[in-house]
This record gives sequence, C-alpha cells and structure tokens, in this order.
Amino acid sequence: MKLARETATVASLLHDATARIGATLGLDTREARLEARVLAAFAWSVAPAWLISHDTDRPAQAQITQFNDLVARRLSGQPVAYLTGTREFYGRGFQVSPDVLIPRPDTELLVEQALLHIPADQSVAVLDLGTGSGCIAITLALERPLSRVTAVDRSVAALAMAKRNGDLLDAPVEFLDSDWFSALAGRRFDLIVGNPPYVASSDPHLTRGDVRFEPLSALAASSAGLSDLRHLIATAPGYLKPGGALLLEHGYDQAGAVQDLLRAAHFEYVRCWTDLSGIYRVSGGVLSE
Ligand code: GLN
Repeated sequence: MKLARETATVASLLHDATARIGATLGLDTREARLEARVLAAFAWSVAPAWLISHDTDRPAQAQITQFNDLVARRLSGQPVAYLTGTREFYGRGFQVSPDVLIPRPDTELLVEQALLHIPADQSVAVLDLGTGSGCIAITLALERPLSRVTAVDRSVAALAMAKRNGDLLDAPVEFLDSDWFSALAGRRFDLIVGNPPYVASSDPHLTRGDVRFEPLSALAASSAGLSDLRHLIATAPGYLKPGGALLLEHGYDQAGAVQDLLRAAHFEYVRCWTDLSGIYRVSGGVLSE
C-alpha cells in the first residue's frame, strides 16, 4: 500500500490545508481556500490558475514539504503577506516585511479620495505621512504622473522597503527619513495624506490575528488612539498651501473626534467617507485660504 503522502494531489493538498487553516485560524472556507491557494502558488512558483489546471498532479515530496512548511507557519499565526513577502494594493503588487504594515483594502478609500484632490493635468505637490510600504505614495504617483509626491517615515527599515517598492514599480517618489514633519521645514504641499497609527493601545484587536505580527508603532497610539492624529491635524496647516487639503485614515469610532480636530485647526469643508464595511474611515478638510 502506498503512503498517503505519495498519493497526494494538488487538489488533496489544497483541500487538507484549507481545512487546517480554517479550523485553526477560525476562517470561513472561502477565506481559508484562498490562503491555501496563495501559499501553494508561492511555494511552487506557479500562477494561481496553474493550481486549477493541474489539480490531479502529484507534487514531488520536496514540493509537498515546502508547501506544508508554509502552511505550518500560517497555522502559527504569521500573516500570509509576510510569508509570501507581497500584498496587492490598488491593483499593484507591493513588497512587505514585518517592518511595515500590510496594505489594507480599506486604505484604498484614502487613495480614491486623494485622487479626487489631484487633477490629472496639474503638477500638484503631495505628501504622504508615515508611508510604511509606500503603497499610498507610490499609487498616487503612478495614478497621477504629473504630481510630485513626497513620502516620509521615521522608521529606516520601513523607508528602505518603501524605496524598494518605488524602484520596483518605477514610481518617482521622493522618500525622506522624517519623524512626521521634522525634515520638512519650509516645505508646503497642496495635499497631505496619511494612515497614522490610530488603534487605542488597550484595544484587544491588537492581540488577535495578523496584527500581532505587524509593527506596533504603525498601529497603536496613545490617548485612545488619537495622539498622532491630533498632532498631524494641528501641525499640517504649517505645511499646506492656502486651500490645500488634508486627508487622514482613522479608526472606526474616531470620525467625530477627527472632524472636531480638523475644524479646530481651521479646516473647512470637513467631511468623512465610509470604507468597504460602511465604517467612517477617512476624514479630511481644506485649509481656509
Ligand atoms: N486599520 C488597521 C487595523 O485595524 C490599523 C491601521 C492603522 O493603525 N493605521 O488593523
């Protein structure tokens, strides 16, 4: 009788991994299957479509081991994006590591709103605060080729990753080592965007799932998560041209506080927008002229 592992097919390996990922991480079958497929495609250096057309193939033992090792690391909680080293954002692939936050679909809302503030036929100066992987700055630079995008981060490791993504995606972004505005004295921008840390340090969300492996400095802020948002809103007017706009991502329950802060800092046309889950996730305003 053959050993089970010698008879394993692509389909049976995926089926088994899906069941284990679903049961261990509490994911539904659709999510678990997607993760198993992403890990298999990465382990075997094939496109996801290959897995479908080769579902009766019997991978060699070394390939099975490679896949199972990745699945085991996922079962220990490590995020898929850190295992594969990439995550898609706004239709492009970005390199990621535990030095940077994993780009979220919700942050595409910030990009969409920012694009509405950047006319395609004008040379607009844009600043991205706390760029991390660079996904926001790079997307804006590529979607608006005439814009001049500057991206800052105080984490040297994050900045290196952002620069690498800028190079790989051929995006003309100016990357600066800067603790928020510290390296920007005398500069003025038409648009400032940012996805700062905004999760309250005591939020149990930080102790569950993928976020446990992400940089806490990119996630958590003091004062119920508002300390960095407060600093950015109070300081941004000194770096905006008159009529310039500020757009910030924030937590699910922070829209009211952020809008109050924006009005207190003399922003007008203060608004907020909902993310894919219908939660107010981005707020912004225009600096009065
Ligand atoms: N939206 C992220 C989360 O809930 C937090 C991102 C951030 O703090 N900027 O995990």
